Amino acid sequence: MQNQIIVAFKKIVGDEHVLTNKEDLLCYSYDATPGYSHMPDVVISPGNTAEVSQVLALANKEKIPVYPRGSGTNLSAGTVPMKGGIVLLMTRFREIIEIDAANLVAVAEPGVVVSNLNKAVEEFGLIYPPDPGTVATATLGGTVSENAGGLRGLKYGVSKHYVMGLEVVLADGRVIHCGGKNVKDVAGYDLTKLFTGAEGTLGVITKITVKLVPAPETKKAMMAIFSKLDNAGNAISAIIASKVIPATLEIMDNATIRTVEDYAHVGLPVNAEAVLLIEVDGIAEVVEKEAAKVIEVLKANKADDIQVAKDAAQRDRIWAARRAALPALAKLRPTTFVEDATVPRSKVPDMIRAVNNAAAKHKVTIGTFGHAGDGNMHPTIVCDLRNQEEMIRVHKAMDDIFAAAIALGGTLSGEHGIGLGKLPYMKDQFGADGMNVMQTIKKALDPNCILNSGKLVGEC
Ligand SMILES: Cc1cc2nc3c(=O)[nH]c(=O)nc-3n(C[C@H](O)[C@H](O)[C@H](O)COP(=O)(O)OP(=O)(O)OC[C@H]3O[C@@H](n4cnc5c(N)ncnc54)[C@H](O)[C@@H]3O)c2cc1C
Repeated sequence: MQNQIIVAFKKIVGDEHVLTNKEDLLCYSYDATPGYSHMPDVVISPGNTAEVSQVLALANKEKIPVYPRGSGTNLSAGTVPMKGGIVLLMTRFREIIEIDAANLVAVAEPGVVVSNLNKAVEEFGLIYPPDPGTVATATLGGTVSENAGGLRGLKYGVSKHYVMGLEVVLADGRVIHCGGKNVKDVAGYDLTKLFTGAEGTLGVITKITVKLVPAPETKKAMMAIFSKLDNAGNAISAIIASKVIPATLEIMDNATIRTVEDYAHVGLPVNAEAVLLIEVDGIAEVVEKEAAKVIEVLKANKADDIQVAKDAAQRDRIWAARRAALPALAKLRPTTFVEDATVPRSKVPDMIRAVNNAAAKHKVTIGTFGHAGDGNMHPTIVCDLRNQEEMIRVHKAMDDIFAAAIALGGTLSGEHGIGLGKLPYMKDQFGADGMNVMQTIKKALDPNCILNSGKLVGEC
């Protein structure tokens, strides 16, 4: 990048907010996704909307690629500057502008860390439900842009269910506002939904209005052990069919159970084909009634054992097992790919079997855990990126996993987004015409293709 352009960017945001040292650039050349890295030419941290607007206007004029970035925890290479150019770091946008308890709404900047928003709304007896595993590091802008979910997705949904309004800077620097505090607002195309989950390919989000919900009065957690995977699968569907929607309904397969037990020694049954981890929340009387119903359904579906948490310590032990799933699997090998193929919940056992078949066929190690209640599986492939022969097998296994998800009526991503890794499979899900519609939207909003170029919808 020419020095005079760097000087122009420094004039916009201030010298101290422009990084060009190799050591600094290296830190922004990768994110949480294995296998992707590329050095940016410059890292720019704007401090307000006007600065974002000026940076984008200049980048657009000069056709310089721009990669918006929050905390860089995404799992789809969403922030990796594959064509060099600018990493646009949004972490200086960290103000919670307003908590409007009367309207159950908060307005915040995109660099606010999600758990900080939750701490701020807690004193009003409210929660912001999307809770990815990275809740203590991920930003609101990153989670909204990835449409992130988490453990509570079954009952509470994902980010798109909470985004009510946005301020967005377009690729050419124009600033638009869409949505807001109105619960009912059907005017025009739903631009708020369009920019939510757009993975930074359509505009840079500079302000976010989100819906809040009352914090549940109480919670009850339990663990059910199944010697047969099919019985666990039947129990998942039967719980929902019994008209109980747990806040959380998680599954771990045998490979994950063994690995977690080896790592965390939390007393998991290593011979079980599956365990379900379940939590119901809400008003105390309702929670008691729903927990009793869930236990009845689990028994009817041949759970070998059901352990109900009697106090906070026992509840913590149950969730410690689930929280250990990813670190335990990640410890096995140098590289971890966490996928998020998602299927209708009734197809969870079929999906787990398809993953196990892919693992056996291509001789790779895969543990599967995930949000069974909403069909969002996390087949986790552990391998070594440096072993080229192994990586060929890993990618073949991924091909099989995504093909199986689509064949089962599922989707490539329940919460992690597309970015680069799943891009080759997008046509399989959307068809040529579906992809063409998305590429047309991209070109209309970003004709020079500067924003996260090459990701989500491919090359312009
Ligand atoms: C251990 C681990 C556990 C995880 N668990 C979960 C989970 O349970 N559920 C889940 O959904 N995800 C999970 N993730 C993935 C990740 O945390 C989420 O994708 C999160 O939303 C990323 O937030 P971030 O601030 O790090 O965003 P980044 O990674 O910085 O960016 C994510 C995307 O958003 C874009 N972006 C960032 N800010 C803006 C902005 N202001 N305007 C426009 N575009 C922007 C970027 O270009 C990029 O495409 C996990 C990741 C890890 C490493």
